[in-house]
Amino acid sequence: METGDPLLTKKAPNGAFKALLKSAAVATGDACITVPDRTGRPVAQHNGRSMNASRVVWILANGDPGSLHVLHRCHNGQCLNIKHLYLGDHDRNMQDMAQAGRWDRGGRPVVRGEGHGCAVLTEDDVRSIRERADGGASMASLGREYGVHWRTVDKVVKRETWAHVS
Ligand SMILES: [Zn+2]
Repeated sequence: METGDPLLTKKAPNGAFKALLKSAAVATGDACITVPDRTGRPVAQHNGRSMNASRVVWILANGDPGSLHVLHRCHNGQCLNIKHLYLGDHDRNMQDMAQAGRWDRGGRPVVRGEGHGCAVLTEDDVRSIRERADGGASMASLGREYGVHWRTVDKVVKRETWAHVS
């Protein structure tokens, strides 16, 4: 049995690295948190497995995300700030869509405007929602009509989602 800390790093002392991961998991600041004196994606050990340190930070904060990927909002692949991390299930979404065989009338796969939730809008829906919002229809009434939350409608209208649909 090794006496070393299971959270290992080559340069930073183990205790310091572990402390950094723990503090990153409860970070409240908006600045990126990176491991000093390191280049490349930091790797840590968790339950005997090597994984990206950002994943270990996520596990410390929220528990094991299973098959989901821990991704960065800040485009800094070395960053460990929990506030900059989110779970991505892009691959799984794509698989789900293929299995469900949902296609719009143009023969394109129906993509969910948001990564979760049960309502599915089509590109045609998005176009008519925007048209009718321009014409004065309320977010709430459009939401009821299309079976989605009004905030979903709001995001569609503001092009925060479905920005690729003109
Ligand atoms: Zn960051």
